[in-house]
Amino acid sequence: MKCTECGLDFNYFVGEKEAYDRFGYTAPENCQNCRQLRRLAFRNEKSLYHNKSYLSGKQIIALYPKESPFRIIDQDEWWDDKFDVSIYGRDFDFSRPFFEQFAELQKEVPRWDRVFLKCENSDFTNNCAEVNNSYLSFSSHSGENLYYCVRVYRSNDCVDCMNVKNGHYSNNCVDCTDIYNLHFSQLSENCSDSYFLLDCKACKDCILCANLRNKNYMILNQQYSKDEYEKLKEIFIKQFVSNPKSFVDKFAEFKKDKIRRCLQNNNCENVEGNFINGSKNIFNGFFVTSCQDSINIYNCDETKNSYDTSHNDQSELSLECDTNLGLYECCFCTYVVNTKFSKYCDQCFYLKNCFGCIGLKRGEYMILNKQYSEEEYEELITKINEHMKRTGEYGKPFPANLTSFLYNDTMAQDSAPLTKEEAISKGFSWHEEEKEANYYAKEYKIPESEEEMDKSICDKILMCEVSGKNYKIIPQEFEFYKKLRLPLPRLCPDQRYKELLKLQTPRKLLNTKCSICGKGIQTTYPEEFGYTISCEECYLKTVY
Ligand SMILES: [Zn+2]
Ligand SMILES: [Zn+2]
Repeated sequence: MKCTECGLDFNYFVGEKEAYDRFGYTAPENCQNCRQLRRLAFRNEKSLYHNKSYLSGKQIIALYPKESPFRIIDQDEWWDDKFDVSIYGRDFDFSRPFFEQFAELQKEVPRWDRVFLKCENSDFTNNCAEVNNSYLSFSSHSGENLYYCVRVYRSNDCVDCMNVKNGHYSNNCVDCTDIYNLHFSQLSENCSDSYFLLDCKACKDCILCANLRNKNYMILNQQYSKDEYEKLKEIFIKQFVSNPKSFVDKFAEFKKDKIRRCLQNNNCENVEGNFINGSKNIFNGFFVTSCQDSINIYNCDETKNSYDTSHNDQSELSLECDTNLGLYECCFCTYVVNTKFSKYCDQCFYLKNCFGCIGLKRGEYMILNKQYSEEEYEELITKINEHMKRTGEYGKPFPANLTSFLYNDTMAQDSAPLTKEEAISKGFSWHEEEKEANYYAKEYKIPESEEEMDKSICDKILMCEVSGKNYKIIPQEFEFYKKLRLPLPRLCPDQRYKELLKLQTPRKLLNTKCSICGKGIQTTYPEEFGYTISCEECYLKTVY
């Protein structure tokens, strides 16, 4: 089949057409990747703006800029009993398409400033739960003192980490689990007191190493005595603090020819995808934990029988849903929690049999925020289905340009970057970067030795070595670097995020051959990376 969106050929996975059938829909005519990108356009994970509450005028930090056509309010105001969105309820208009009516309702019902649950002292965060004393950290839960972190779980005192579980006192780590005092490392587990590790397990006191198991006192994969190591480590720290980039470059060079495991799936049965843990019968899944019987599933935990679904936890029978918790038999929903038998809902809690509703704290038999009896609801839904078949909307998700976010604020821009012109021609809005004039031209020189590292740097305006943007180091962050004897960052937080992103591979399976035995395998490492990719068997023989 040819994708109607990108024009590339694609095939349905076994069971994919049947899954759509089960919901009464025909399988989509666009490819799995385009469907994923569409959902990502509905997810602003990390762009925050100063804004004012539509209800009280109070200053808020929001995912929407002041110019946004949406009415944004503080979450406390949203939860207030006095705040009632049923006043926005309206009749379904059978003379117009449904998506058009939904878009109008979206502009009237006040929306949450950001998404958070039980977070303290963490105003500049989003999509976080039970995160305290954190700053510019996103999509994380159960954490404390997290700065510039994305998808960091059950962790504390981490800076610039991405996709880390059980991380403690760590800096610049990607795809790591159970780490302590580990820095600038990737794909490592149960490692501590080390720097620049790639795919290491149970290692302590190692620097610039790859593919090691249960090792201590190693540098560049060479064994040293404890005394030798300690001496060399002192030299390393001095040089690292003075010129971190030289080690980042050295590590990039060192990693080049190291064997890479084709996919990172553990404790699974019958799965295809990458970063799948403890799951079975998953096809085209990425960052999936404890899930089963699902296809095209991304960043989901404890979800089953779900299809074309992203960031959906503890859900069952969900189709084309993004960023939800506890769904049962729901389609085309975003930011919906503990909900059953509902479709096309946005920012709602505790729904049952609802259609096209926005901002409800609880609801049953509601359509476009208007209440009906059970009989009226069933009758109206049948009519709406017929209507949507005529308008061509039946079984279709919201078009990407109905997103309430600016395209380059969403995760879609990370995966499929567009230029401003391209985005606008596709019907998206665009976040204009602040004008250069707002930047200070002067550059403050970052101290190159530990002795010179002084808290006064937190008052200075720094300039990013790569983007030229100005940035600051916050006091908590400074204390972290000082205490752990790490270099101060020479890059602005945005650029640091981009550097971490570069270490992740696309969420798309590619066919290749094991570079050791020649067997046909799947991987997510693009060919142009030039890596030595090995099949699971060869990897286990070589690395363990
Ligand atoms: Zn496509
Ligand atoms: Zn092999």
